[in-house]
Amino acid sequence: MTTPAPRELTVALLGGGTVGSQVARLLRESADDLSARAGAPLRLIGIGVRDAVRPREGVDATLLTDDLEGLVAQGADIVVELMGGIEPARSLILQAMAAGSSIVTANKALLAEDGATLHAAAEEHGVDLYYEASVAGAIPLLRPLRESLAGDKVRRVLGIVNGTTNFILSKMDEDGADYADVLAEAQALGYAEADPTADVEGHDAAAKAAILAGLAFHTRVHLDDVHREGISTVSAHDVAAARDMGFVVKLLAVAELGDDEKSVVVRVHPAMVPRTHPLAGVRGAFNAVFVEAESAGQVMFYGRGAGGAPTASAVLGDIVSVARHRLAGTRGPGESTYAHLDVRPVGDATTRYYVNLEVADRPGVLATIAQAFADNDVSIQTVRQDGHGDDAHLVVRTHKAHDSALSATIERLRSSDAVRRVVGVMRVEGEDGA
Ligand code: NAP
Repeated sequence: MTTPAPRELTVALLGGGTVGSQVARLLRESADDLSARAGAPLRLIGIGVRDAVRPREGVDATLLTDDLEGLVAQGADIVVELMGGIEPARSLILQAMAAGSSIVTANKALLAEDGATLHAAAEEHGVDLYYEASVAGAIPLLRPLRESLAGDKVRRVLGIVNGTTNFILSKMDEDGADYADVLAEAQALGYAEADPTADVEGHDAAAKAAILAGLAFHTRVHLDDVHREGISTVSAHDVAAARDMGFVVKLLAVAELGDDEKSVVVRVHPAMVPRTHPLAGVRGAFNAVFVEAESAGQVMFYGRGAGGAPTASAVLGDIVSVARHRLAGTRGPGESTYAHLDVRPVGDATTRYYVNLEVADRPGVLATIAQAFADNDVSIQTVRQDGHGDDAHLVVRTHKAHDSALSATIERLRSSDAVRRVVGVMRVEGEDGA
């Protein structure tokens, strides 16, 4: 009787850049451990790139190909998509699933834009779709949300999910510097892209917020459902004002279950966070996500949100999970969207505001301003007056109110002759410890 040859699993990589080259390196360097953990050797059969001629450090040149469709057609057990962007990544993933391959991807943009199509195809073809690396790089976050917290009810997710903006805001806080100067420094250090729009305008964080919210609340959230504001309008003055009040400015991704438990609001915007809040201590290019669940209470995930090796760690974890499923002839949990929550606009969120006003120096100004808040049902928490005469400022902090009521108040103040200029407006989050 002959013993059957031990099974090996084949892996095809689409993309051999920052993350892909690290995944290829780890597949080679950790081959024995990965084989023992997965239950079979993992054999890399090809790496799809644009330029297959350019040598890449640590990557076996014979594996490089620019024929990505041909690579996918080989029907590897696992296709790892690390090219980024919508097309051709989406078509290649769909083609791979149709050929019976399970998918591991780090592509947040594609998942937030068209996750529904990918999940439906994974279901149809009975394959896995894993994407741990798509949000917060190395941090184990999606699997804990999808599996460990599957028995709990998540009420709120509050996260710093973009390292570039966190680096910039941390520097502005530490050095008192202007946004433009710190951005230039971040670009010189390689923390920000030459075109920083995706990061600084919150697009990257919004894609991650959509993915997080979908998993946390068992519902489908599209990128277009996410309210998005970036950090390019945050001034050194805002950061200094936050510091004076014991706060720090962070770009937050916030997803909250509505009081009716039938709706959710998902938003990305700069916010003032108390320095005592765990998220305030997340500095530089690090990421952290704070989850509040009914039974678990507060849980925080922290670590490196980007970079070749950290992101590759999450990708390898997915590869091992998917490999185990292939060997067992099973698949992991599919998409969970049974809650079908109504994704509401930001106006329905409840939050607090900080408002800094340059005001006219005459009697009755304070009463006029207080009336603008009262007329919109916004209750004032504190008012502080700074300076006198032409330099008179009022710094108002509100209690929680509907975002729509707060923005209506700001509109009213902008047109009031008691107000010379609205100097700064920012949401305040995390004051009640969450
Ligand atoms: P990258 O350095 O730009 O690498 C992209 C790779 O894909 C390159 O090897 C490129 O080939 C190849 N590629 C792109 N478009 C292609 C096309 N049309 N045809 C053939 N090959 C193509 O990107 P990355 O930073 O590794 O990011 C990969 C994915 O991981 C993205 O979805 C990103 O959002 C996600 N991610 C990245 C990080 C991070 O820290 N970098 C963190 C978390 C998630 P060439 O090399 O020939 O140009």
